[in-house]
Amino acid sequence: MANSKYEYVKTEFEPDFETKLLPSTYIVIRIDGHQFSEEQEFDKPNDPRALMSLMNACAVAMFEEFKDIVFAYGFGDEYSFVFTRTSKFYQRRASKILSTLVSFFSSLYVTKWNLFFSQKDLRCTPFFVGQIMYFPWDETLRCYLAKRQDDCHNSNQYNTCLWELVKSGKTKTEAQDILKGTRTQCRNELLFKQFDINYNTVPMMFRKGSSVFRDKLKVVVKNRENGDPVVRLRKKVIVEHCDIIGESFWREHPSLIASEDLNLLRNVHSSNVYECMKNETEVKNKLLPYTWIVVRIDGRHFHQFSDMHDFDKPNDSKALGLMNACVVALLEKFKDVIFAYGVSDEYSFVFSKTSQFQQRQGSNIVSMIVSFFSSLYVLNWDEFFPHKELRSTPSFDGRAICYPSTKILRDYLAWRQVDCHINNQYNTCFWMLVKSGKTKREAQSILKGTQTPDKNDLLYKQFGIDYNTLPAMFRKGSFIFRDKVEEIVQHRENGCGHIQKVQMKVIIEHCDIIGESFWKENPHLITCDN
Ligand code: ATP
Ligand code: ATP
Ligand code: MG
Ligand code: MG
Repeated sequence: MANSKYEYVKTEFEPDFETKLLPSTYIVIRIDGHQFSEEQEFDKPNDPRALMSLMNACAVAMFEEFKDIVFAYGFGDEYSFVFTRTSKFYQRRASKILSTLVSFFSSLYVTKWNLFFSQKDLRCTPFFVGQIMYFPWDETLRCYLAKRQDDCHNSNQYNTCLWELVKSGKTKTEAQDILKGTRTQCRNELLFKQFDINYNTVPMMFRKGSSVFRDKLKVVVKNRENGDPVVRLRKKVIVEHCDIIGESFWREHPSLIASEDLNLLRNVHSSNVYECMKNETEVKNKLLPYTWIVVRIDGRHFHQFSDMHDFDKPNDSKALGLMNACVVALLEKFKDVIFAYGVSDEYSFVFSKTSQFQQRQGSNIVSMIVSFFSSLYVLNWDEFFPHKELRSTPSFDGRAICYPSTKILRDYLAWRQVDCHINNQYNTCFWMLVKSGKTKREAQSILKGTQTPDKNDLLYKQFGIDYNTLPAMFRKGSFIFRDKVEEIVQHRENGCGHIQKVQMKVIIEHCDIIGESFWKENPHLITCDN
């Protein structure tokens, strides 16, 4: 397909050298629910259904999707996924791995919600923030996991005390004051003396969190004629709630992470070994100040996904409507996104040059956007496809790119819209040929080397289609932004006229964004101030 003059924005600003993680290191993706304590009404301190059933079911499903995950550990609203040292997943590209995992987990969480909370609606769109780390040595990884379990212990013990105090009549602030500065021993005593609770008898799942891994289990595969069972060893994903700081778990499962030098681990409680290590291992990518930030997300395996869900070809209006509805909701949630442009299974979200969203931390920004979008996609599915069951878990990858000038940002958007035109025109011809009886291969060879005028001719002469009369949403993509809209908010009581109010609303247009006119009509979108 023809290259456009705008493609330099890809070759020059999205280089192949996107952060790749060092070979032969463990990759860890940690996801953490965003504002879960405020937004979701869980029982306190532990909602066993949310914790055990939902988060753990999602973690198990992650193992089924991503074969290179060897171990996962989670508690509360967080989970860490460990990839094998030798993993070549997405050529170890940091942003691709992080965004894909966070997106997939978010979709799973919303998909599985009803299995565990049939009585309770999701009150808001849940989403997760992700970070990516790498660990060169077994010991440092073990040290990281030990620190996570230590945090699990501390936060669970603190929350158990806090909610017992609240249940006994204290306000939350009073309870927090009582607990300020307390340590393990003191909290244990408080629980025992005031509430007759022996902390060590609180369920292991809450005290120790959940470890997920594959193990060989004896499984009865069938029964012989005489009734004897035939037992085979099968690899299964299992969840355990055990100590992972000490030696015994790792000794029993030597294939997971083999740790030899354990001096570091012995120090985990008493020193800041982990804190020192963390600075070296977390991949931080602060985005350049005073540059436009574009976060582009793209559906993962949407070719198959669209086949599986029988999308109309070349364009399924409902699928595009679903993408657009998610973007409208996203712009309502994140005021830092000024506008968005998308086609097919992709969307680009534009943040202003001066935006301080997430202190311009790339991995936070990308993971939040892709996670929120994925949750919405699942939540809104039924509205657009009421008679189609969601048969697989949709997910998206994401990346953040910085553009130093308004001209280059405009060229970026032009590049995406030219791409939309080229793909749509090709796909329209391709599917018309296929629908007229040609095989896919024949259609491809007919279209090989053709230019825009040839394709327009083909459509007109063979199928009586004037390309320019096809829906603008297919030809131009969708541009979503906030604009002032005058709304009638109230009719006057005396019946004379009405009261109007100007409000900012998120609106969708399918217009040309390459030329000047759209930008002249909407000067507030790209100004010198933003
Ligand atoms: P942030 O965006 O900073 O992560 P957050 O509210 O999610 O905000 P966390 O430090 O991640 O803060 O804490 C997670 C909180 O979520 C817990 O304090 C708890 O209130 C709540 N939570 C998560 N899972 C559960 C659960 N299974 N049962 C009860 N509460 C839970
Ligand atoms: P990757 O994981 O590399 O992105 P992909 O299969 O998603 O692979 P893309 O190049 O992103 O490949 O192409 C998206 C595909 O999704 C299109 O080829 C098209 O078949 C399908 N698709 C997406 N949205 C629609 C839609 N609204 N109507 C019909 N098909 C669609
Ligand atoms: Mg795709
Ligand atoms: Mg795509």
